[in-house]
Amino acid sequence: MADETNRLVILGSGPAGLTAALYAARANLNPLLIEGIQPGGQLTITTEVENYPGFEHGIQGPEMMDVFRRQAERFGTRFVTGEVSEARLRKPPFELSVEGDTIRTQALIIATGASAKLLEIESEKRLMGYGVSACATCDGAFFKNKEVVVVGGGDTAMEEATFLTKFCSKVTVVHRRDSLRASKIMQERARKNPKIAFVWDSIVEEIFGEPKSGVSGARLKNLKTGVSSDFKTDGVFMAIGHKPNTDIFRGQLEMDPQGYLIVKPGSTYTNIEGVFAAGDVADHTYRQAVTAAGTGCMAAIDAERWLEAHGG
Ligand code: NAP
Repeated sequence: MADETNRLVILGSGPAGLTAALYAARANLNPLLIEGIQPGGQLTITTEVENYPGFEHGIQGPEMMDVFRRQAERFGTRFVTGEVSEARLRKPPFELSVEGDTIRTQALIIATGASAKLLEIESEKRLMGYGVSACATCDGAFFKNKEVVVVGGGDTAMEEATFLTKFCSKVTVVHRRDSLRASKIMQERARKNPKIAFVWDSIVEEIFGEPKSGVSGARLKNLKTGVSSDFKTDGVFMAIGHKPNTDIFRGQLEMDPQGYLIVKPGSTYTNIEGVFAAGDVADHTYRQAVTAAGTGCMAAIDAERWLEAHGG
């Protein structure tokens, strides 16, 4: 792996990375796609996807990503699994350190997506996987007939809360303001669900419990009154948004204050020639599977044209 210089490496295996791979493979660029710690990306931890055009009756997220992957593979995409610990992007060929190997490439498409944000409190870290979770799809079934809290007021929080009512006897959404950020349709669904309750203007200060016995409650603070109170719960699900996976590019690629990569408007060009960005890693506005796939396609076309112009 170390001696070969690839024409194109794609980082990330969500809709953006796999669409870039499909287009690049069909353009005979022989792309190598590096799948990270969450192959398939965020859609593999979701349930029903109802808004991806072409699937009239919806499709399960993991199944959709399987189809994407098989389609990219059919045209010759090569896959390796591993985490990139370092990226050297000063000039092509770019070098990526992956599990002790160095992968070289003339052009690079970054489609590393975003990860769930956490509250960053000590008890959350200690109890993660023991009653605290950032993925209802993964862990919901462990909470059969239990009462849980979902933190957040966006679409993810509404989706997770609604999903959790399949298992749980009660779901309480704890939101830091008194109005939701979620889309009207998702709000309606959650508000109409008799198992879902809301606690407004409140944050989770601390989560009680032990890894052995799980979560037993949380201390909530009402931001309007300043009063803290204990709330009995068997689990806490975080649904407070995402942060882009760009830490390894810090100091090399231009990013906004939240860490999203900056691309030249109307393209996938980053500030480094030959490095392109697609999907959620460069998009804090839309963050949809279909927009990620769209920019993945753009990145493959941009990379193909750039390689052609630069004799790569
Ligand atoms: P989001 O829209 O950014 O919402 C995050 C929520 O968490 C907000 O309500 C925010 O409060 C709250 N929050 C953030 N940091 C917090 C903290 N430290 N403590 C307490 N609360 C905190 O994120 P999202 O819900 O993950 O959605 C992201 C994007 O994906 C959106 O564009 C959404 O439409 C899309 N999405 C779509 C679907 C679907 O259509 N099926 C499903 C999921 C997500 P504030 O409101 O006060 O800022």
